[in-house]
Amino acid sequence: MQFTENQELRLRELGCTLDPPQSFASDRERDVAFKDSERAAIESNRLALQGYQREGRAPSVNALSERTSHFLRSRGFIEVSTPLIISRQFLERMSIGDDHALISQVFWLDERSCLRPMLAPNLYDLSKRMLKVYGRPLRVFEIGPCFRKESSGGRHLECFTMLNFVEWGIAEAQKVGRFKELGLLLMEQLGLRDYRFVEEQSVVYGTTIDIMVGNVEVASGAFGPHPLDKQWGMDETWLGLGVGLERVVMLAEGLDTIQKAGRSLRYLGGVSLNFK
Ligand code: ATP
Ligand code: MG
Repeated sequence: MQFTENQELRLRELGCTLDPPQSFASDRERDVAFKDSERAAIESNRLALQGYQREGRAPSVNALSERTSHFLRSRGFIEVSTPLIISRQFLERMSIGDDHALISQVFWLDERSCLRPMLAPNLYDLSKRMLKVYGRPLRVFEIGPCFRKESSGGRHLECFTMLNFVEWGIAEAQKVGRFKELGLLLMEQLGLRDYRFVEEQSVVYGTTIDIMVGNVEVASGAFGPHPLDKQWGMDETWLGLGVGLERVVMLAEGLDTIQKAGRSLRYLGGVSLNFK
């Protein structure tokens, strides 16, 4: 006999690891074990939350955003902050129209505007202006919220924090090497080990590279010139990478669900506030 589904949920919420699963001889033995585990977990959560206050910690994603922003700025990337609300036209220019998988995930505000599901459209638009001011290579990044309607829970949030960098005007022959160099530095900075680059060739989009930890995608990279570029009036070589920071926190801290890393009314610093 093992913990009931509700008991398991409760213990996971409190941050208990339930692997390998425990077995009990009777209901009573199981319920006593559950109460003991719950009590111990609440006590350790209380200590963790006191530590959070005492050490003046920030939510992990905020701390990670700050560290990463500092790191990228020290490497010549220019930080930008663009609107959370974007136009339908911007999505269309990303070829996200009625027949695109992402379109059903968009939070529409009205006929013409939505909450951005990604940073790329704004970065295209802004970079075009920046390229008239700055020389090449031009390095730009943004860290900020993106919104997608999602149906699967454990690795997806409806509001998550995307880090997207792009480097314009680098030599064609150096693109992939430079991408890997930056990817490596960034993963080290983000505290991730045991990741791998998964390269794919697509007839339409050319080379794309995902960064995976086990079977979890943490980042997706792409290269230009890209078929979408002409919609934005661009004609340059580029490389870019989009990383989900809550995914990084989930993996780096060994959290069992991404909800503990996201904006929350139940968790603080990844620790459950639900003591009952
Ligand atoms: P997935 O296939 O895992 O849904 P994706 O390929 O649709 O991800 P991208 O558009 O490539 O996601 O976005 C870049 C990164 O943003 C992803 O690698 C992931 O780390 C993160 N990300 C995407 N969607 C979400 C989400 N709903 N919640 C949290 N992070 C996300
Ligand atoms: Mg992807």
